[in-house]
Formats: sequence, C-alpha cells, structure tokens
Amino acid sequence: MLSNLAARDVETLIHPYTNLALVRETGPLVLERGHGVWVYDTDGRPYLEGMAGLWCTALGYSNEELVEAARDQMARLPFSHLFSGRSHDPAIELAETLKEIAPIPVSKVFFTSSGSEANDTQVKLTWYLNNALGRPRKKKIIAQRKGYHGVTVASASLTGLPANHADWDLPLPGFLHAACPHHYRGAEAGESEEAFSARLAAELDAFIQREDPDTVAAFIAEPVMGAGGAIVPPKGYFAAIQPVLARYDIRFIADEVICGFGRLGTWFGAEAMGVRPHSLSFAKAVTSAYMPLGGVTVEEPLYQAMLDESRKIGTFGHGTTYSGHPVACAVAIKALEIYRRDRIVEGAAEKAPHFQRRLSALAEHPLVGEARGVGLIGGLEIVADKASKRQYDPKAGVAARCVAFAQGEGLIVRFLAGDRIALCPPLVIAPDEIDTLFDRLGRALDRTA
Ligand code: PLP
Repeated sequence: MLSNLAARDVETLIHPYTNLALVRETGPLVLERGHGVWVYDTDGRPYLEGMAGLWCTALGYSNEELVEAARDQMARLPFSHLFSGRSHDPAIELAETLKEIAPIPVSKVFFTSSGSEANDTQVKLTWYLNNALGRPRKKKIIAQRKGYHGVTVASASLTGLPANHADWDLPLPGFLHAACPHHYRGAEAGESEEAFSARLAAELDAFIQREDPDTVAAFIAEPVMGAGGAIVPPKGYFAAIQPVLARYDIRFIADEVICGFGRLGTWFGAEAMGVRPHSLSFAKAVTSAYMPLGGVTVEEPLYQAMLDESRKIGTFGHGTTYSGHPVACAVAIKALEIYRRDRIVEGAAEKAPHFQRRLSALAEHPLVGEARGVGLIGGLEIVADKASKRQYDPKAGVAARCVAFAQGEGLIVRFLAGDRIALCPPLVIAPDEIDTLFDRLGRALDRTA
C-alpha cells in the first residue's frame, strides 16, 4: 500500500532513469529534508546519502551560507542574462575564480545550467572551431564506451551506454566510441595496468588512423568514469593517450562534471590523473548542487577563432536564457569560497586513504569481484564467481537488490549497469560516517549473498 504522496507521485511524475513499471509497484522514496550527509524521508527515517545526491552535494545538505547567498542574490537581482553584451557581477566574479582554480590555461568561461548542456556546448564549439579554421571535415568526436556525458541529443551521443542509445536512434553519425579503460574487465590475462594502457593508446591511434585523422576533431573522457560504473582508469592511461591526441591535433575535453571540485582529492580530476586537457566541462559540485549550474572553459585559440567568426558573421549564436543565471553564480561563488576557506579539497584528500581502505576491504567479500576507487569515489562490482569474474544474469538484478538492502539499512548508494555499485558521499563526510557507510554496505552485501 503506497503512502498518499507516493500514490500521487506515480499518478503524476515521469522519473528520469527509472524503471517506470517497477516504480508503480514499489512507489518512490520520498525525501523531505536533509542535514549534513543525512537525508530524511517523509516518515522521518534517516539515510546516509552515500551518493551525494547524484554525485553533486559535495558540501552536504544544510549549508546555511549557500542558502543565504541564494536569498541575497534573489532579493538583489533574481534574474539577468548575458545575451547581447549584458552582464552582471556574479557571472564575472565566478568566471574569474574558475580561471584561477582551473589546472589549465583558460581564456574565458561559458556557463550553462547542466552537465549535458556543457557537453553539448563542447560539441558545438569543437565544430565551430574547425569551421572557423577552415577544416570542415574535422568534425568527428571520440568518446569512450561506458563514458557518461549527459542526455541531450549530442551529449547522449557522446555517452557510451546502451540505455542512452537503444530505442533513442542514437548516437548521431560522427560520434564514435573507443574502448572503456577498465582493467578488471578489459585486460588480457596477466596484462599489467601499464601494458593495458599502452595497448588502449595503440588501439586509439589505429582507430583514429582508420577514421582518417583529418576527420577527428575531439576526444572526451571523464577522469574517473561515474555513471558507467565508477571506474578508475588503469595506471598510465591518460599519459599514454594524450600524445596520440596531440599527434593528430585532436581537442581533448575532460568531463569534470563529477570529478571537478575535490572529488578525487584535487580541485579537478585532470590533476589527479596527470593530464592537461584543452578544456573542462563542469557542473554539479560547482554549486554543491544547491542551484543548477554548469559550464565549459574556453582555451585561447578557440576564443580567437570565436572572435574571428564574430567579426565575419556577427552573432555568436549559442546560449540559453539561464546561461550564467545570477542566483546560480552567486551560490557557486559562495561554494568555491567555502571550498577554499574550509580546505574541503585538502580534507577530501586527507579522508581518502581511510575511505579507500574500507572500500578495498570489501574486495574480500564473496560477492565482490572488484572494489576500487580514488579520492572519495569508489565502485564495486558484484560477480557470481570471483575466480572467473562470471557475472549474474542481468535480469536477476543482484546489485539493485543489494542497493535496496542498503536502503533498508539506512544507506543510499547507486547501482549501475553491469552489477556495479557506486559510492560518492558528500566531501564533508566525517571519518565515523565513512565507517557507518561501509558497515551498512557490508551488511547489505551479506544479505544479498
Ligand atoms: N557528465 C558527467 C560526467 C556526468 O556524471 C553527468 C551527470 O551525471 C553529466 C555529464 C550530465 O550532467 P546533467 O545531468 O547535469 O545534465
């Protein structure tokens, strides 16, 4: 019997990324409020939010300073836009701060309202750049199988997951997918991580050559894959592929929508992975998700090409009503101030060894094939047989069952395709709460076994 709110929900809402048939039977989990790393349902039951919402509420749920920043900006100038040369101080100040903290040279910042729009913008800017440079054939974009970059038509084409393509008539032509850098699943018997990385780089090189390097414009990757399974790339992966991209003058975009702002114990994932992309996509934790905001960084050569195009054709024809929304920008400015003042990124790095030790210990569990992470993100994979890495029938929904048991224990974690479970708590999680998270997950795994 569904509660009143749950019954009204199933009569009215389409839930994103949800089995719509199943939720009609089970009803949704209706949350009412949050405090710190905890969220509470309508019966007042607490859950440790082990996913920071959707990899985003880095500063937890009750940050009054963020609320104040939003309230102040709403009272002062609740909306203005950046079209036709109009501006406002929150967008200017936020862009300045982002330029300061970005680990790569940034000429300008373009704001969006989500990660999907940020990656859509990356696709369009890459095409625009190559038209401006007089190389109209250089348009293909390579992403990775299991990479996640969003759901708009272009960003879903970048995404490398079957659920985003099957029955959606995607990916669009010109969107290609390279191998997923997952050592546990992709390496040959006895192949070291470094050797696997070198092989993937050689395969990428051959792939680009087959496609014709003059037609390949960009490569996009998450420093650590999120929705594709919380997958950490093998040692040396980015160091091996970056020279391949440079050889063919391919724009390298780091999708920092999850990894940006401290998740890996560094400001951006690119730093943790030792890469220097041309551009970053960001969203989520830039406001700790208190307001929707995303964006991309624009490198100087791209900006110069955009300037030239404006001189030739006039208007730069891209942007949405909410690009640089002043309230979202004000919240982001405050969030970044808190990250710096409260040493949130350094704190994540300090807590990471404890988090990773507890995660690695789960690899001893009879159901767990892989348990691996970096910083305060981790993924584990449930297998039917550890020695052979044989998986359960996907229809059995074993990881989904484990996540349901975790919810019963008062812990929110997320199951992903391939019987993977992701962990991504708010960066403000305390050490004893890390223990609570893993104790509860361990009990959920025991019940699943
Ligand atoms: N890129 C990555 C790495 C993501 O994890 C996500 C969302 O989870 C996106 C892009 C899309 O962001 P949004 O859901 O804000 O459109």
